[in-house]
Amino acid sequence: MDKKSWKDFCEKQKEKMQAKVAILKTEIADYDQGSDHEYIFIFERATYKVKKINQALTKMDRGDYGRCVSCRQMIPEQRLIILPEVDHCFACAKKT
Ligand SMILES: [Zn+2]
Repeated sequence: MDKKSWKDFCEKQKEKMQAKVAILKTEIADYDQGSDHEYIFIFERATYKVKKINQALTKMDRGDYGRCVSCRQMIPEQRLIILPEVDHCFACAKKT
């Protein structure tokens, strides 16, 4: 994928996750406080993902997207398609 496609792809992922966060927020509000930990866990994961995708978009603007932060190798596209917010290649992710 070229640079522009990646940006569109990540923007779309971000929108999707933001929509999910919004839904989760209203659903959690319907629950008793702290009664469903799993729900809160999913919500936190989704919020975290939005944050990470934002960071990925910032990296794209800097032209630094898709590079592993540990070994500085390019992360394979197949990995980025599944996890667009990832900042480690598979080998480095396994080490940590
Ligand atoms: Zn690496």
